[in-house]
Amino acid sequence: MKNIVVLGSTGSIGTQTLEIVDAYPDRLQIVALAAGSNVEKIEPQIRKYHPKKVVMFDEAAAKALKTKVADLDVTVLAGMVGLFEICTMEEADVVLTAVVGMIGITPTIEAIKAGKDIALANKETLVTAGHIIMPLAKQMGVSILPVDSEHSAIFQSLNGEPKNRLKKILLTASGGPFRGMSKEQLADKTVKDALKHPNWSMGPKITIDSATMVNKGLEVMEAGWLFDVDYDQIQVVVHPQSIIHSMVEYVDGAVIAQLGLPDMKLPIQYALFYPDRLPMNTAGIDFFQLGQISFERPDLETFQGLKLAYEAFKIGGSMPTVFNAANEKAVSLFLHEKIRFLDIADIIAETMSKHQVIAKPDVEQILMTEQWCYEQIAERCC
Ligand code: NDP
Ligand code: MG
Repeated sequence: MKNIVVLGSTGSIGTQTLEIVDAYPDRLQIVALAAGSNVEKIEPQIRKYHPKKVVMFDEAAAKALKTKVADLDVTVLAGMVGLFEICTMEEADVVLTAVVGMIGITPTIEAIKAGKDIALANKETLVTAGHIIMPLAKQMGVSILPVDSEHSAIFQSLNGEPKNRLKKILLTASGGPFRGMSKEQLADKTVKDALKHPNWSMGPKITIDSATMVNKGLEVMEAGWLFDVDYDQIQVVVHPQSIIHSMVEYVDGAVIAQLGLPDMKLPIQYALFYPDRLPMNTAGIDFFQLGQISFERPDLETFQGLKLAYEAFKIGGSMPTVFNAANEKAVSLFLHEKIRFLDIADIIAETMSKHQVIAKPDVEQILMTEQWCYEQIAERCC
């Protein structure tokens, strides 16, 4: 029996994780859940999975939840203190981090320090603090198991081969809802347009990140940290059907890929049971119906977000944090219809251009850099 803590249990990844627990009740057990403020959604989860502890990050939501589940034997906690407490629970084996945003960094660090394996969906953690997380995980002997579909595909394709055999990573991208469009066509795209992803059903922030291709930029950085490779060894390949989830090219020219239908349950399950591979109740790929798969070069001029991500990664230090935090804020403004679609990349570029890089930021400096970005953007707009 594996004991799991789920951070972000009410979200897209969180709920799919719980579906895997449903499929393997004798192998997986929920010991704690956390969400931001969605009391309505977490209450039935508590009644169904009987976690010992639950965190609502929002204090008022935690209070409301406490009243609602007063009849149950569960401890309701709030805030960062609560997240730290559940990430370090004695009985926890693995912490699945599926919160959205940089809030994921410090709880992940605490979990690693407590010797917990991490099933990592939250990409902001490695993008901003990969230089802290990866050495710490190594020191503590814990595994960082990728949940993101591309990283899971790379992990599966590498399958334990030594690093010196790897030539490059081929990170696939669907291209999002606006693939093939010009900048002029993107100028008046609305929130509704951007939220229509052609292949994947995900939370709103990452769906917008897919439309701007910032998501792929974050994934390039995440891959760099996870697999210890340089940015020039990671090539983005647009593959609109999202059937090949990523590939690796070896020094002898062999390319190994992982294929599957666009369904996050597979990478989540793989991370939870690694190194086991267990049956999953889904239809496989029907190659005859699929007919063709295709590939394109990414358009870095129209989708500046990806180009800026490579720049941020190349510069390193605190610049990836600026890229990420500026994007987080810009996406939130876009979702609230305060800025236009193309402003997202402009805001990231402007904020990056104003930043004085800190070479090896500690957690406090990362969080201060995040705040600095928010202040810069607040001055610029709204
Ligand atoms: P969602 O927006 O669907 O869910 C976010 C979750 O985080 C919710 O449970 C939310 O709770 C919780 N949350 C938000 N703020 C806090 C907080 N301060 N403390 C605790 N919990 C909080 O996001 P996704 O599931 O789409 O994405 C989660 C992460 O996984 C992101 O980093 C994303 O980039 C990554 N990812 C997602 C994929 C996907 O297919 N969705 C694929 C690969 C990676 P509440 O409901 O209460 O607000
Ligand atoms: Mg992905």
